[in-house]
Amino acid sequence: MSQTPSAPEADRSQGTDFIRTRINQDNLSRRFEGRVHTRFPPEPNGYLHIGHAKSICLNFGLAKEYGGKCNLRFDDTNPVKEDTEYVDSIKQDVQWLGFQWEGEPHYASDYFDRLYECAERLIIMGKAYVDELSADQIREYRGTLTRPGTPSPWRERPAEESLALFRRMKAGEFEDGKYVLRAKIDMASPNVVMRDPTIYRIRHAEHHRTGSKWCIYPMYDFTHCLSDSFEGITHSICTLEFENNRELYDWVLDTLGVYHSQQIEFARLNLTYTVLSKRKLIQLVKEGYVRGWDDPRMPTICGLRRRGYTPEAIRDFCSRIGVARAADSVVHYSLLEFCCREHLNAVAPRCMAVLDPVKVTITNYPEGKTEEFEQPLHPEDESFGSRTVPFCRELYIERDDFREDPPKKYFRLAPGAEVRLRYAYYITCQEAVKDADGNIIELRCTYDPDSRGGSSPDGRKVKGTLHWVSARHAVPAEVRLYEQMFTTESDSDVEEGKTFLDYFNPESEKIVTAMAEPYLATLNAGSHVQFERIGYFCVDPDGTQEKPVFNRTVTLKDSWAKIEKKQ
Ligand code: ATP
Ligand code: MG
Repeated sequence: MSQTPSAPEADRSQGTDFIRTRINQDNLSRRFEGRVHTRFPPEPNGYLHIGHAKSICLNFGLAKEYGGKCNLRFDDTNPVKEDTEYVDSIKQDVQWLGFQWEGEPHYASDYFDRLYECAERLIIMGKAYVDELSADQIREYRGTLTRPGTPSPWRERPAEESLALFRRMKAGEFEDGKYVLRAKIDMASPNVVMRDPTIYRIRHAEHHRTGSKWCIYPMYDFTHCLSDSFEGITHSICTLEFENNRELYDWVLDTLGVYHSQQIEFARLNLTYTVLSKRKLIQLVKEGYVRGWDDPRMPTICGLRRRGYTPEAIRDFCSRIGVARAADSVVHYSLLEFCCREHLNAVAPRCMAVLDPVKVTITNYPEGKTEEFEQPLHPEDESFGSRTVPFCRELYIERDDFREDPPKKYFRLAPGAEVRLRYAYYITCQEAVKDADGNIIELRCTYDPDSRGGSSPDGRKVKGTLHWVSARHAVPAEVRLYEQMFTTESDSDVEEGKTFLDYFNPESEKIVTAMAEPYLATLNAGSHVQFERIGYFCVDPDGTQEKPVFNRTVTLKDSWAKIEKKQ
């Protein structure tokens, strides 16, 4: 089910959601002495996506709102999948979204020594033991929701023996999987997470930061709560799938008697027509479905950036969807597009480009003549300034702006019809020239010299206004037209025997050669621009001055308004 966006900004920042309510309560009771200290804890095993943006806006946003702090912490306990490439991209993306972490970034790997000490303490307290069951056996012994677990034969191993074995694990005496360290909690707990979870495992692998110093690595559930504790985090906000893990989170901190942060869960973001799982995103990249992590179709932050989304638009989106505890909230992609359009409308200059050109010859316009029209770059905001647009006898307009047999109320060009060329002149179509196959190759028109600037010479009304470019001055540009990456709204629509990849939309990228007005070739990579009547576009770094490349960020048509009405 789709989620309706919450009320406007003014109402949203007043502590009305459940997380802000809890923080307000904690501040009232002075539980954390009124401090608010959050963290954003990505695992550096992929690029950040729009789901992470929700978490970033929430964690950094809370810190800002409450005059608190927010740490950036890399949750880097799995050496096999992690890489500094990901670390760097994550830092860049958080900053691009407009947030700055407190001090230096933190790394769970910085705590490996302290975590190890904590593990030894648990062993000494009789709260952890070294187990010899294999991973499969551990799963088997764990039981199910309806059947209690069976204790491992090694559960009652004396503490000194576990300690000695644990030290030998650390010293590298055993191969991967030979032993694990498990917390000794309750094999009959109704919460399966509490049935003696594994807290350390052997992994002979190079770590991107600690190199070969360690061959045992702490598990997420053990690392996360203690990292929060070491950093003095007050509110540890995570997604709902960790709800059952909260009991373990609390157990570790209580058992060790250390500073205790409060874990709070919220619903993760799902978006229609895309996937927000790093595993699936990696697959799209590795198997060549897309150009890379920053392909403009990807829901990654770098993909959205290359597509032309702005930090303001993404923050607005995150603020509109709000935070809730309800599971499985799926948000319409068109809401994200709506937010993007809203912002680009204010910040993108307007220019003219013709995506599917057909030639127009103004038969009564002098052959060698060129005029220059000074046109504003934004219709409502003079601060954008203006640029000059050349005009001559040969122009291009959109093929779709001409109909031989126009339907009723068709105000664009047709035989005998008169239209306004934006900022230039009125023209009337006299003849459509065709090739041998009957395709229109040229429209022969006449212009009214008295309509210069696009204004009516005698008060006669012209309904249609077309965009155009001068054929002699136009710059050919590669324009990449993007559509939804998948043909199915949600993962749950995937039929049996198929995978999400079977729904990859082959039309999600269409490339055309457009004719652009010269000014467009002067824009730098990353610039936003509206092609009048067509949509918002962003200059791609692949392009050059001779052959610029534009990515379509979003069309001008708002499909969100329609969806909103239905809800
Ligand atoms: P994935 O399932 O894509 O691998 P993850 O949760 O494993 O995501 P992390 O790097 O661990 O990725 O995520 C960092 C933070 O971002 C976590 O606090 C996580 O809860 C949050 N997060 C990840 N995905 C989403 C999402 N779709 N919506 C909201 N928050 C998310
Ligand atoms: Mg994770």
